[in-house]
Amino acid sequence: MDWVTRAADDAVRHAGEGNLVTVASGASPSGPIHLGNLREFITPHFVAEELRRRGVPVRHLHSWDDYDRFRKVPAGVPAEWAEHIGRPLTAVPDPWECHDSWAAHFKAPLQESLRQLGVEMEEVSQTEMYTAGAYREQVLLAVSRRDEIEAVLARHRTKKVAPAEDASDQEAADLADSVANDDEAPAPSAGGDDAIARFPYRPYCRECGRDTVTTTAYDDATTTLSYTCSACGFSGTTDLSTDTDGKLVWKVDWPMRWAFEKVNFEPAGRDHMTPGSSYTVGTEIAPSIFDWRAPARVIYAFVGFAGVQKMSSSAGGVPTATDALRVLEAPMLRWLYVRRAPTQAFDIDFGPAVVRLYDEWDALGRKAADPEKADVATLAWHRASATASAGTLPTPAVPVPFRTLSSVADVTAGSAALISRIVESSGFPHASVDDLEPRLTKAMQWTAEHVPASERTTVRETPDTARLSSLSEDEELWLRIFLDRLPDDGDLDEVTAVVYGTPKVARGLGFDDAPTDEVKADQKDFFRLLYNLLVDADRGPRLPTLVLALGTEKVRRLLGA
Ligand SMILES: [Zn+2]
Ligand SMILES: [Zn+2]
Repeated sequence: MDWVTRAADDAVRHAGEGNLVTVASGASPSGPIHLGNLREFITPHFVAEELRRRGVPVRHLHSWDDYDRFRKVPAGVPAEWAEHIGRPLTAVPDPWECHDSWAAHFKAPLQESLRQLGVEMEEVSQTEMYTAGAYREQVLLAVSRRDEIEAVLARHRTKKVAPAEDASDQEAADLADSVANDDEAPAPSAGGDDAIARFPYRPYCRECGRDTVTTTAYDDATTTLSYTCSACGFSGTTDLSTDTDGKLVWKVDWPMRWAFEKVNFEPAGRDHMTPGSSYTVGTEIAPSIFDWRAPARVIYAFVGFAGVQKMSSSAGGVPTATDALRVLEAPMLRWLYVRRAPTQAFDIDFGPAVVRLYDEWDALGRKAADPEKADVATLAWHRASATASAGTLPTPAVPVPFRTLSSVADVTAGSAALISRIVESSGFPHASVDDLEPRLTKAMQWTAEHVPASERTTVRETPDTARLSSLSEDEELWLRIFLDRLPDDGDLDEVTAVVYGTPKVARGLGFDDAPTDEVKADQKDFFRLLYNLLVDADRGPRLPTLVLALGTEKVRRLLGA
């Protein structure tokens, strides 16, 4: 039994047997949504998939917290965007001018990645919900019972302990940022009216659109709220029964939506689980004010990254799903998230570990094909590989190992003809370039974007005449044998035999003889010589692959024939 099974059981128990189950996620499109935040979306997705598998009616509701305020101007954005601080994310223009708003700019790439990942959600915009008055009844309810709400908030405020262990870590804080805002009103200044200063609803200023407002009065009889705006000086009123220009503060907004959408399961980041956090407070407010029991949940840990130093990530060094999908097949990215419990932190490594990850994935796929070997690991493979509505997600028709494709990509500079010739001679005789996709493209992108230049292969243009004129006796002999035996149109097996067999022949053995210790030592020296002469390095991609990629003619020329 894996975490998905347990979470699905919890969700059904919360909803009650036979009822529609609502699993939910929420995120603020305030910036790039990176791989850590992806857990917010993908955790309920797997739970929904498990329920679909069981035939339980389920919906995955995703709330875009796009009515949240724009909080700060990030690096790389013109300084004049500071004038938009305090406005809803949907009201802030897109500095890159490719979308309707700031919010749309950051939703779009994630939506595309989720589509590739087979994650289907019912998306709800909080801007649309609030401005349409969808929550009017709930807003009026919260406001009329603001004293009870404040009593809960106050109790947790005094209990609030030192920040969680990670709060000092800027990265962790930023991670928390884009999932949810915590916009509780600041403590009132001395002599201020507590009840008004901590009002659970905050309007956006009618004049300038910012939330830089101070509530000055509220009339329960007329539901009229009076405020002044510190940014533009406007003083005015808004009628909560008819106007729709504000929102509940986050700690009230979240439990309100659990009730409104009848949420049965929702994951939350670890930052929401500290004393006094929005989840803790929401757990009390939901039943007492909105008549809904807090949903079943899992707490998810952070996702870290390695091997991204050289990557020009859209998220300023913190990779997004878009970045990961340039390197990993969609089922593999899903697998990274489903194979571990959400409570486990993990790193995604974009460096050399990618090659091993592909090997591990391919091996698991072979195991999963045998029902006799079914276990938790193969269950994760199946969960990662297909969804109820998308079916099996794209994988290559011919699964050539990633390590082969990446070294082929390295030495062929992306030539389709060469790639197909090498792959064909590597034991995949009927593989067209199309059969290698989507893996081939990812191997090419990984090689170009994550393999440092010092480890890339640079094929020599001209023979190294200095090296060739100072060969030792052994080296001369090896080259003579090699050039003599190298077939003009050989396949990978034939070329491999010549590469490994040359030092054997030089010692009087045959190609098929087992190598002696002397031969093994010679092979090392001979291979280095070939790398020196072909790619100006002491090592490189597998030599048979390299020889095939360069073609016999070029190899002969560089070896001085
Ligand atoms: Zn844009
Ligand atoms: Zn204003």
